[in-house]
Amino acid sequence: MSANNYFSEGEAVAVLTTQPLGSTLDYKAPEGGLNAGAFVEVPLGPRRVLGVVWGPGEGGFDRTKLRGVARVLDVAPMGAAMREFLTRAGAYTLTDMPQMLRLATRAPGLATPPGKRKVYRPGQGEVDRMTPARARVLDVLEEHGGLSFTLGELAEIAGVSTSVVKGLVKQGAVSEDLAPRDVPFPRLDPDLPGVELSQEQATVAEALCEGVRGREYGTTLLKGVTGSGKTEVYLEAVAACIAQGRQALVLLPEIALTQEFLTRVEERFGAKPAEWHSGVTMTERRRVWKMVGEGGASLVVGARSALFLPFRELGLVVVDEEHDGSYKQEEGVTYSARDMTVLRASLEGAQVVLASATPSLESWANAEAGKYKRLELTSRFGAAVLPEMRSIDMRLETLPSDRWVSPTLRRLVEDRMEKGEQALLFLNRRGYAPVTVCRACGHQIGCPDCDARMVEHRFLKQLMCHQCGLTMPIPEACPECHVEGKLAPVGPGVERLSEEVVKLFPEARVAVLSSDLFGSARALKAAVAEIAEGGADIVIGTQMVAKGHNFPKLTLVGVIDADLGLQGTDLRAAERTFQLMRQVAGRAGRAETPGLAVLQSFQPEHPVIRAILSGEEESFWKAEASERRSVGVPPYGRLAGIVLSSPELDDLTALGAAMARQSGPLREIGAQLFGPAPAPIARIRGRHRVRLLIKAEKSAPIQGAISRWLDQFKWPGRVRVQVDIDPLSFF
Ligand code: ADP
Ligand code: ZN
Repeated sequence: MSANNYFSEGEAVAVLTTQPLGSTLDYKAPEGGLNAGAFVEVPLGPRRVLGVVWGPGEGGFDRTKLRGVARVLDVAPMGAAMREFLTRAGAYTLTDMPQMLRLATRAPGLATPPGKRKVYRPGQGEVDRMTPARARVLDVLEEHGGLSFTLGELAEIAGVSTSVVKGLVKQGAVSEDLAPRDVPFPRLDPDLPGVELSQEQATVAEALCEGVRGREYGTTLLKGVTGSGKTEVYLEAVAACIAQGRQALVLLPEIALTQEFLTRVEERFGAKPAEWHSGVTMTERRRVWKMVGEGGASLVVGARSALFLPFRELGLVVVDEEHDGSYKQEEGVTYSARDMTVLRASLEGAQVVLASATPSLESWANAEAGKYKRLELTSRFGAAVLPEMRSIDMRLETLPSDRWVSPTLRRLVEDRMEKGEQALLFLNRRGYAPVTVCRACGHQIGCPDCDARMVEHRFLKQLMCHQCGLTMPIPEACPECHVEGKLAPVGPGVERLSEEVVKLFPEARVAVLSSDLFGSARALKAAVAEIAEGGADIVIGTQMVAKGHNFPKLTLVGVIDADLGLQGTDLRAAERTFQLMRQVAGRAGRAETPGLAVLQSFQPEHPVIRAILSGEEESFWKAEASERRSVGVPPYGRLAGIVLSSPELDDLTALGAAMARQSGPLREIGAQLFGPAPAPIARIRGRHRVRLLIKAEKSAPIQGAISRWLDQFKWPGRVRVQVDIDPLSFF
C-alpha cells in the first residue's frame, strides 16, 4: 500500500468496488481531494456504485479519459489495517476483492445521507402532577444524563407506556428533538464492579487484562469447563479494553446469542452492547456499522460476520465456543471466522481470546506449539461440580426394536422425576425418522433434487430434505411401487423419541427442542426460558441444546446414541463427537445438585467413548494429534477442497478429468491431488457435485498453486467451482 495517503484533486486513485470486475478501477480524485480508505460513489457505466479508495491509480490508460469520483460518502474511512486484512483474507481464502468488500459492507443505505429521528432528553418544564410512572421516566433520563433515547427505548427502560412519555413532552418536562438517526450506543462503564472472582478466576482475568493493556497482538486459548466462569473472566478483559478507549468484539455462535447473554453484559457494564446477527433489523445494522467505524460503539456482540465490521480501534476479540463448527462459513465466501480473527487481530495489534470447554484440535495444537498462550479454569464456580459420566452398554440391555430408551436409562429418568429434577435426552437427529422405507418394495423415499433421503417430520406432517429444505406431504402410497399403506419409518429422530418417552412416562411434561419446531428465534428462546424455569420434566433435544442454555434443575443427561457421530470417514468425527458429548454432558448439574451424564453405546470400549467418560482430555488430544500428524492432515498438514457443480454431469466429468491431467502447479509444490470423485452428497438442489481434494505440507504455498492450476481451465457459465481452504466438512 502506498505511503502516500492523500490524493489531491485530479490525481488518479484506484477504487475497489463491490462489482465483480476483477480488481480495482481508476478514477480522478474530486475537488478537495480525498484519503486512502475513503468510501466513495463512482460512476460505472450508467450507474453509480459504492467503493473504497484503495491506493494510487494503477495507470495504464489515457489519463484524460478518466472519470471522476462522484462523491465522498459521509462515513468513517476504512482504516489501513482493515484494508490489509481484506487483502490478506482474500488471498488466503482465494476470494476476489469485490467479494471481500461485500463482506465488509453488509449494511444497507451506506450511501444515503444520515436521516433524522425523534429523540427524548430531559426538558426544562415542571410536572404539574407527579405519578410513579412519570417519576420513573425522569429518573431514567437523569441517570443517563446527556444520553438521548428513542420513544420506544425510553418507555421500555422506564417500564411505562409511550403515552406517559408523551404526556411529559406536552408539559415540557421532557424535550423532543430531531437528531441524526444513527446515534452512538450508550457508553459502557468498565468501572462498575463485576462479580467477585475466585482466586483462580482472578489470576486468569489478570493475565488477560495484562495482554490487553500491552496493546499488542497476542492470542490466548482460554480453556475451562462449562460453568467455570469463562464469560465472567473474559468480560474483565473487555472492561480493560473499553477502559483504554479501544473497542471489543465478542463473537458467539448464532444460537448462543441469547437475551441471557446480553443481560449479563448489561449487568456488568450498565448498558447493552451493539448486536450484529441475522435477527438485527436493517436500520439497526446500518447504525452498528457506522458507529463501529466512528467509535460510537465500544462493544459489539455478534455472529461470525461481525468480524468484518469496520472497527476504528479494535483492542480485543473474544471467540466464545471457539471449537464451534458454525464459525466456518461454507457458502459463498468460505472462511473460518476463528482463523480470520487471529489474522485481523495481528494486523490491528489486538488481543484474541479463544474460549471453550472443548477446544478445537487446531487451537490446542497452536497452544502446544507455543503460538498461543494457554490459560485454564479447572473448576466449576461455586458449589457446582462436574457431572459424573457413565456408559450404558446397549448390547446388555433388552429393548424391543423401534425403542431407544434402555431400561437402565429409564430407571435413571424415573429417579430424577421423583426428586422433581429435570432430565435431558439428547439425540442429534431432527424430525421423526431419518429414513422412510416401503415395506412392499424396499424403496427409500429420496429427495428429487438431492442425493439425500427425505426425513419425516410428523409434527409438521411432511417429508423434508435436510440438504435443500424441500418439503412434500407424506404420501399414502409408495412413489415407486404404488402399494398403499406400506411406508414405514426407520430409525429415530427426536419426534419419534418423544413418542416413546410420552408412553414410558405418561405423567411427565415433555418438551422437544429442535430448531425446525419453532417458527422464530423468539419462539425458541421463549421455550428455552420456560424450560429453564422448570416448565418441563423431560427435555428432548438436538445439538442446539448443547450450547449456552442454562437449565438449573437439569441433573441428568442421557445420550441416546453416542455412536452416531463416530460413523463415517470424516477426519474430525472423533474430535466432534468428543466435543459434542462433553458439551452436552456439561448441561447436567449447573446449580447445587450434582449431575450425571450417561452415554448409550454399542461400543463403549471405543477409544473416543472411553476418553469422553474418563475426562482425560489431554490424553485424548495427544492421541488424536499424533494420529493426524502421522497422516499429515490438519492441523499438521494442509487440505483444500474443490467442489465442481453443474446441472449437467457431463460438464463435470470433462472438467474434472482435465484438472487431474494438468495438475502440474500442484505437483510443483509437492501437493497431492485426490479425485475427481462424486461428492459424498452427489447432488444438491438439482446440481451434480464432484469433489477434488488437495493435500500438502503445512508450509506449502497452496493458494498460489491452486490459482495457477485453476487458471488453466475454462468452464461453461453453469459450472460453479467452489474452493474451500482448510475445509471443515466434506459433504
Ligand atoms: P462459562 O462461561 O465458563 O460457562 P460462566 O461465566 O457463564 O461460565 O459462569 C457460570 C455461572 O457461574 C454464571 O451464572 C456466572 O454468573 C456464575 N459465576 C461464575 N463466576 C462467578 C463469580 N466469581 N461470582 C459469582 N458468580 C459467578
Ligand atoms: Zn433436496
